[in-house]
Amino acid sequence: MPKANPQQSKRLISSVDLFWQQAKAALSGLPNGGLNIAHEAIDRHAVGDYRHHVAIRCIDSTGISQDFTYLDLSKLTNQFAHVLQQLQVVTGNCVFTLLGRVPELYITVLGTLKNGSIVCPLFSVFGPEPIRTRLVSGNAKVLVTSKRLYEDKIEPLRRSLPGLKHIIIVDQDQDIPPLCDDFWQLINRASDRFTITPTKPETQALLHFTSGTTGKPKGVLHVHNAVVAHYASARYALDLHPGDIFWCTADPGWVTGTSYGIIAPLVIGATLLVDEQEFDPVRWCQFLQDYRVNVWYTAPTAIRMMMRLGNDLLNHYDFSSLRFAASVGEPLNAELVLWGKKALGIPLHDSWWQTETGAIMIANHATIEIKPGSMGKSLPGVESAVIQRSSEFEVRTSEIETIDAPDQAGELILRVGWPSMFVGYLDDKERYRRCFINDWYLTGDIVRRDVDGYFWYVGRVDDAIKSAGHLIGPYEVERVFLAQAAVADAGVIGIPDPIINETVRAYVVLKAGYSASDELKRYLHAQARKALGPAVAPREIEFCDKLPRTRSGKIMRKLLKSRALGLPEGDLSTLDSNL
Ligand code: ATP
Ligand code: MG
Repeated sequence: MPKANPQQSKRLISSVDLFWQQAKAALSGLPNGGLNIAHEAIDRHAVGDYRHHVAIRCIDSTGISQDFTYLDLSKLTNQFAHVLQQLQVVTGNCVFTLLGRVPELYITVLGTLKNGSIVCPLFSVFGPEPIRTRLVSGNAKVLVTSKRLYEDKIEPLRRSLPGLKHIIIVDQDQDIPPLCDDFWQLINRASDRFTITPTKPETQALLHFTSGTTGKPKGVLHVHNAVVAHYASARYALDLHPGDIFWCTADPGWVTGTSYGIIAPLVIGATLLVDEQEFDPVRWCQFLQDYRVNVWYTAPTAIRMMMRLGNDLLNHYDFSSLRFAASVGEPLNAELVLWGKKALGIPLHDSWWQTETGAIMIANHATIEIKPGSMGKSLPGVESAVIQRSSEFEVRTSEIETIDAPDQAGELILRVGWPSMFVGYLDDKERYRRCFINDWYLTGDIVRRDVDGYFWYVGRVDDAIKSAGHLIGPYEVERVFLAQAAVADAGVIGIPDPIINETVRAYVVLKAGYSASDELKRYLHAQARKALGPAVAPREIEFCDKLPRTRSGKIMRKLLKSRALGLPEGDLSTLDSNL
């Protein structure tokens, strides 16, 4: 295996640096030379031509919409930053939100960033225990929430959260519970002029928890410099431009919903649509049509459910405003990409990244041709490689051995230095250290890179199946099932075997209109063997009603395996899971 060539690395580093320098030059920076996400997202526009442009259009649970211009948002976030100062919340303190997608969530996130504090939006659907563990590990000083969420989920825990000094309730015209503050009363008393705390690019800004697909969710810290990557990646990977109407369907409780559901579109000067209601495929079609969405960022699980509506229904909608649509979080199989073209009039673009990377790293970006079924290519500015992870590697060799031949499966690694790279895991320095070898970040995902430089997702290192000397990525097998007309969803795991180490087992969910039978099983077996060969095709296929997925929609293969083996589910029964 060839070793990385230092000459080549040098050349690549400088072109990479140049890319980020150019991206940073498009931002304005703080007047005193610092960098602050909220300044780039709001204040920069609020003093310029975009001051009366709609920054956020919030559509509430009854369908009523409320607009906030960049100027409105600038004033409101200034007021919230004052509120935090009055509460003696300083740089490095953590402010959490536990809210649905309501205006106060956006005001809190951006106002907290203006104050130089760290913000962590929590997904409001979590139960009390996942909320408590996150508040404790993030050392929350302030929580902004609603009266209902407070009474249901926080009040019973409050005694176990001594570090949580202030709870601010956003509801208007309601009695505020004892020992809580009133968001709007505090805001209305505060000045709408504020000088942003002079944060530096390396000042901590955002705390996100991972999806918990492979274990206990990890708290991941990001800095203000991340805004450079949010901006540049949204331009390149999402084709987002000033004035666009943009809809990111992820909740801000996940990194996608903050990086692209709050920060990136505002930095660019787009109008961000905020939909308070939960997912409903029919309503989403209506929403795309009625709000004239130009750029849409969503996830394969949602697309799969819209696809199930059938073309007859979808043909009733006018999607002509859509210019670009992209997906993240799970593999976007080729059938979904092509469905986009048929049903929406534009293909879907896959994109790959992680909570740890803070922004999109690989995508079928706007300037390249889509290869349906692939994740696309590295963004300019992102230097990636594929490596063989050996047991020797586990004990930390100091050299990176790259796989340069095309189509070989190996671990995806990224050269450190992109602006939104995480700076730590909460309370786990050792885990953070283990993510790096020299100046490379190990993603823990297995991919193949083809001869044209496109990446194809294979699976997670943790989920890889070792069977009769073959290394099998679950997604490579699932992909074959997902291409079958009868199959709605598929999850693949390895089951321990004394002779060949592991056998491959597939769990298959059928589409409406198909029923489980031995004949269908035989047919699916035959298709899998034809596509994958007998060594890789699953030995067993089981039909099931649904697969265990995290709340953010990812298949929890480890949980599938624990259940198959009758093992305790431990961390994975995670109260976050959506079974
Ligand atoms: P945890 O780290 O807690 O186990 P997680 O890795 O699922 O959870 P996230 O950071 O939300 O948490 O998800 C990142 C992972 O999602 C990636 O490492 C990858 O496995 C998967 N992923 C993201 N985008 C794609 C994509 N386009 N195709 C395939 N997989 C993807
Ligand atoms: Mg992960």
